[in-house]
Amino acid sequence: MNPFVYESLPQRVVFGPGRRAEVADEVDRLGGTRVFLINDGAASTVGDEVAGLLGDRVAIRWQEAIQHVPEDLAVRARAAATEVGADSIVTVGGGSSTGLGKAIAASHNIAILAIPTTYAGSEQTAIYGVTGNRHKEVGKNPAVQPKAVIYDPELTLGLPVGVTGPSAFNALAHSVEALYAPGCNPVTSAIAMDGVRAIHRSLPTVMAAPGDLAARSDLLYGAYLSGMALGATAAAFHHKICHVLGGAFNLVHADAHSVILPHAIAFLAPALSAEMPVLAAALGVEHNPAGALWDLAVASHVPTTLAALGLPRDALDEVAARATQEITVTPRPFTHADILGLLDRAYDGVRP
Ligand code: NAD
Repeated sequence: MNPFVYESLPQRVVFGPGRRAEVADEVDRLGGTRVFLINDGAASTVGDEVAGLLGDRVAIRWQEAIQHVPEDLAVRARAAATEVGADSIVTVGGGSSTGLGKAIAASHNIAILAIPTTYAGSEQTAIYGVTGNRHKEVGKNPAVQPKAVIYDPELTLGLPVGVTGPSAFNALAHSVEALYAPGCNPVTSAIAMDGVRAIHRSLPTVMAAPGDLAARSDLLYGAYLSGMALGATAAAFHHKICHVLGGAFNLVHADAHSVILPHAIAFLAPALSAEMPVLAAALGVEHNPAGALWDLAVASHVPTTLAALGLPRDALDEVAARATQEITVTPRPFTHADILGLLDRAYDGVRP
């Protein structure tokens, strides 16, 4: 075994159906008395419930969250946090709500308690991003890593299948990339592959029966592990392409993951001869894990073509140029033409 360094990130996790009821205890544990409560519009019912549980600890309730955290939104939310003297942040919602909380924590250095309602995994990382001028500026800062997370699978029961499938693919991508991303090691690979197994076994069931609490719990557990795998490694080849599609072309982040992942893995596979059999085993196949990812996407009815996401074909050249600039570390060297070829296949939806 190669020598390695693994740094675990300190965090308290409370997992299980109904555990959102403990939110006030968790905020007290963090010493929060003036909470900046963020819930995006779709999570407003849960937001009402959490606001009720927190009572007069809530200093302000903020119901606007936008994916990729536009700079103007971050500026307004930070000003509001200063104005009310917020000493902690509670986020209820998907990666957009968590992301806004992180943008505030980055400038105010106050603790976040995250209650995720999607599978994005942002609550497990010290990575944050703010988007301005068609570019997503991504940074890493231990201050933005949520100090506590409540995973309550009941909160995911109402997540529409159109959001559930791509969001689960976002999580899956974290685990798959953790096999080769900078910072990977045997510990992160073990976490990541258990994440892949959990998502692979639960996603088709959740898509067929979105109200199945056991399958939803399994899927949320897989997303938790996948977020950990991302948090302990870094965004890599595939993720950078998705950042370009989101940052410059405003595609839905999770949708981009479900379309690109099989093609990114097919391209990298020749350079990952040790990792691909591990991934194949976690996906329950003997070879061609890229094909198995594609099959899972089809079985889960998630988007499988860039065309379906509304990207014009003539944008592919710019996506390739931007991605070529942004991908600085890669297991397989590539040219602009390689990325364009990958995007072409993703545009048409060709099974790898
Ligand atoms: P999102 O937070 O925008 O949520 C997706 C959709 O689901 C939204 O329309 C939202 O309103 C809805 N929704 C959320 N919870 C719901 C619920 N319980 N019921 C019904 N609808 C609900 O999207 P996301 O995919 O969760 O997160 C994407 C964002 O997170 C992107 O900006 C991405 O870059 C970021 N992200 C960051 C990291 C990180 O480590 N920093 C990791 C993953 C994702």
